[in-house]
Amino acid sequence: MSNTLVPERRNAFPTMLSNKDEELIAAATEAISQRYRDDWQEVGAAMRTRDGRIVTGVNIDAYIGRIAVCAEAIAIGRAITETGDRGIETIVAVRHPKPGEPGKIAVVSPCGICRELIHDYDANARVIVPDGGRAPKVVSIGELLPNKYKRGSE
Ligand SMILES: [Zn+2]
Repeated sequence: MSNTLVPERRNAFPTMLSNKDEELIAAATEAISQRYRDDWQEVGAAMRTRDGRIVTGVNIDAYIGRIAVCAEAIAIGRAITETGDRGIETIVAVRHPKPGEPGKIAVVSPCGICRELIHDYDANARVIVPDGGRAPKVVSIGELLPNKYKRGSE
């Protein structure tokens, strides 16, 4: 069913990956390849700060699932800890398959909590996401999180 009244969403930038985006995916893949532990570390993330640094992180899972922390949050925390908040130009997360699981390390979408976090630290961040079996693409965080939560009268 198509609805011609809904305008097509447009990005402010091309959705095709650049060489720098591929470099970011490679950095996230390297991070989780080095630190993968079944049930504990399965996702790697890499972000490029607005001043051009690449910072990686891996998720930390926990026995109490709700205290687990996503790889994107670890990367953002590392970036801020090391040099302060310089914004997020682009961010990506990749998931390592479990032993015996088919497939290889692949780009995954940020969860809802990470979408909030990424938006809080850079409302114009680019996010690399999977594209239904095709090559990953780039979208804006605003496109992934319309009607973002806001405090009070902000
Ligand atoms: Zn998340």
